[in-house]
Amino acid sequence: MGLALSVMSTNLPNMEAMIQFTNRGLYVPAADIYIDPWRPVDRAVITHAHADHARPGHGAYLATPDTCVMLRHRLGQVKLDPLTYMTPRQIGGAQISLHPAGHLPGSAQVRVEVAGQVWVISGDYKTEADGLCEAFEPVICHSFVTECTFGLPVFNWLPQAQIGAQIDNWWRQNASLGLTSIIGAYSLGKAQRLMHCVNPDIGPILTHSAVEGTNRVLREAGVTLPKTQSVSELDKIPKGALVIAPPSAVDAAWAKKKLGPISTGFASGWMQLRGVRRRRGVGRGFVMSDHADWNGLLDAIKSTNAENIYCTHGYTDIFNKYLNENGWYSQIVPTEFGNEEAGE
Ligand SMILES: [Zn+2]
Ligand SMILES: [Zn+2]
Repeated sequence: MGLALSVMSTNLPNMEAMIQFTNRGLYVPAADIYIDPWRPVDRAVITHAHADHARPGHGAYLATPDTCVMLRHRLGQVKLDPLTYMTPRQIGGAQISLHPAGHLPGSAQVRVEVAGQVWVISGDYKTEADGLCEAFEPVICHSFVTECTFGLPVFNWLPQAQIGAQIDNWWRQNASLGLTSIIGAYSLGKAQRLMHCVNPDIGPILTHSAVEGTNRVLREAGVTLPKTQSVSELDKIPKGALVIAPPSAVDAAWAKKKLGPISTGFASGWMQLRGVRRRRGVGRGFVMSDHADWNGLLDAIKSTNAENIYCTHGYTDIFNKYLNENGWYSQIVPTEFGNEEAGE
């Protein structure tokens, strides 16, 4: 640990750092590779397929097999380089491996080791095991680059089973009133987690075509999802259905026209904030996020044993300050992550 401290927390010029924070993204000079770059580069490691982390235009994409399948779906004929979890790959002078991040199926943290020094770049992560994606795995390191999407103490998630029960109750009640339930959930990740955690005995689970497209690709990749059917393939909506749709589609004209009398809901970590709930104007807000909450972030950081923390997107100011006041060497790193899931 002493070595980590002297190497990592001193004011070395950026050129000598093992990971450089450049205007294209996080760069690993020893491997000549970028992690989740936001401008086109020759070679990229991609933590997961959300658009703010997986951008078009790179020469090659190294990612887990599940993420590669999603990249093909979203970015077309890009050059893919699949790497399974926990399988170290020597690239130049760096050893690189991918480890479950628990954010969505295939999502990975990137472990980079150069001359005995270890960094982990988390991408986006969630510490609660959701039973759908590979559970977050703590990776011991000297330096940990963390997201802070929900890095405020107010963000404090209930266990998934309890949120699932809330949604089930809402759905059941709507069904008994003759209403179709429609719930807004981000089409990659959140939507699948939702369909996985509700009770399929209550009624049929239907999807918006954007969600069904993602389902199809994930099923092809071997992810087990409950039976769903795209609303667009149905002439008549069965009674008591739950429709899972991207947030922007919940209130849209098609929903009212096609689904008849509806009750709307929305599943997001942002639902913890009363102001957001009100602005969204949805019937019911369910606090469910695919990111770590405040305690999840802290637990993750502790479990890495890292002394040096780099905070990327989200509530970086408050979270970074807390870390520095509580025994870590922490700093904020500006990135261009965090746009796709603004509604997440
Ligand atoms: Zn994400
Ligand atoms: Zn993100």
